[in-house]
Amino acid sequence: MTSQIPCPNCGTPIVIDANLLLAGKRFSCTGCDATVALGAASIPTVSHAVDEFNALRRRIEGGGAR
Ligand SMILES: [Zn+2]
Repeated sequence: MTSQIPCPNCGTPIVIDANLLLAGKRFSCTGCDATVALGAASIPTVSHAVDEFNALRRRIEGGGAR
């Protein structure tokens, strides 16, 4: 599950994997070498998206369609 966020420093789009980001991984900007980790501003958006994704996947894998 990848998405792009603009670098807070230079605006270059940084491709991130939300699951890895939530796991604490840091991503580097290719434009200015800034490091992007999970910041306070992005936590609600990222965690909400991951929650929905995982809930949907659980529903599908669990076969709880009935
Ligand atoms: Zn940058």
